[in-house]
Amino acid sequence: MSYVKGEAPGQGSLFPVSLDELIPDDHLVRVINAYVAHLDLATLGFTQTITKSTGRPPYDPADLLKLFLYGYLHRLRSSRRLEAECQRNVEVMWLLGRLAPDHKTIANFRRTNHKGFVALCRAFVQFCRRAGLIAGELVAIDGSKFQAVASRRQLITEARLAKQDKALENRIAGYLQQMEEADKAEAHNDIDQQAMQDALRLLNSKRDDVQSARALLKTMGLTQFVQTEPDARDMRTAQGARVAYNVQTAVDARHGLIVHHDVTTEGGDNRQLLPIAEAAKSVLAQETLTVVADAGYSNLTQFQGCENAGITAYVPPNRALNTQGDSKLFDRSRFDYDAGHDEYRCPNGCCLALKQVNAHDRNRIYAARAADCAACPLKPQCTEVTQRYVSRHEHEAAGELMQTRLALAPEKMQERRSIVEHPYAILIYGIMGHARLLMRGLEGSGTEMALAVHVFNLKRVINILGVPALLALMTC
Ligand code: SF4
Repeated sequence: MSYVKGEAPGQGSLFPVSLDELIPDDHLVRVINAYVAHLDLATLGFTQTITKSTGRPPYDPADLLKLFLYGYLHRLRSSRRLEAECQRNVEVMWLLGRLAPDHKTIANFRRTNHKGFVALCRAFVQFCRRAGLIAGELVAIDGSKFQAVASRRQLITEARLAKQDKALENRIAGYLQQMEEADKAEAHNDIDQQAMQDALRLLNSKRDDVQSARALLKTMGLTQFVQTEPDARDMRTAQGARVAYNVQTAVDARHGLIVHHDVTTEGGDNRQLLPIAEAAKSVLAQETLTVVADAGYSNLTQFQGCENAGITAYVPPNRALNTQGDSKLFDRSRFDYDAGHDEYRCPNGCCLALKQVNAHDRNRIYAARAADCAACPLKPQCTEVTQRYVSRHEHEAAGELMQTRLALAPEKMQERRSIVEHPYAILIYGIMGHARLLMRGLEGSGTEMALAVHVFNLKRVINILGVPALLALMTC
């Protein structure tokens, strides 16, 4: 029996097959093509939307945008990989009309169109909103760290510089000691004086550099600086400490679409609740919004900000927040606050009056009378010093309100998990391949994330509606 045989490479055809015949009617590239055809790229802020009458004609930004959308939908982010796809991939040939831009042209288009990519991502969210795919009833906020284009070896901190300075100082001292010992023993010929002087000059110059860097850090008020990626910060990630950016997303509960995202240089999430929730509310053009986030976002000032902005937040308290005493002593929850008199009542019924206000951390300190504590039978369970102190944050009431709200709706935390975990899994493994950025700087990282988030939303809408329905929606 023979094998199934294909055509010979040189086989001609009387009626050559066109590229269009190779692309099915409901293929993804047709969606990309129809979508980009209806965009006003000049209004969105893309460059080279108006051509000059002289010089070599540039590539149409619409073609390069199609290439990037196709690439990110297929985990192809590198400009060299995209260049290769233009030359061998039938789908890309159909999409770009067989154009094959080189990797520099492709990379430059992404690098110079930050504004356009961000505006496009936002415009697609509005399209989804108009199509009824975003409800705006409940939004889950979450963050993830994406590694920047820099190694931790490029990281400068005061502690690292102090260590380097000490090491250089020791080496210089070692050389000087050797020279002194040689002087004493009158054994000048045993050491190479010239080589010693050169080594000392080099070490002293390195030490000057280290000391200049320390002075610069101090002048700039920075605690860290990454030499090749000044915008990025040293952060704790799932893989350990990395030079990274913190990407925040607000995901709508109806279909898991990302309503808003931001790339920040904050190492933690606890100052992100209000800015992300407010931005999501603004995108949705609503007076009120309900948001849910994990305990990493717990921050009383942010809670109060949300209350003031008409945002109903569900965030579990961080266990380390405003607690007093350890597990052996009465927890602060055992003390009742009397808002009318601005004082606490202890388990023994004594009053803790306001003693001090700390402006820097916005904490108010209340203290029991030393005489009350001295005579109290509960003292061993309450305090190990002469009197008990209890602190209360300026916005403690917002935290208490949050606890009451969470107690009434414990299912909100379960909902949070089901809403936010899927988008990050798709963004990292389905679109980007790994949590690592290819572009430098806050702007470059913002461009990449805008592309990734846009493609995530596009992919999600295709899955929800299907290609024919989406094409009909785009063309109507
Ligand atoms: S030790 Fe002081 S604060 Fe604590 S229960 Fe007794 S009286 Fe109250």
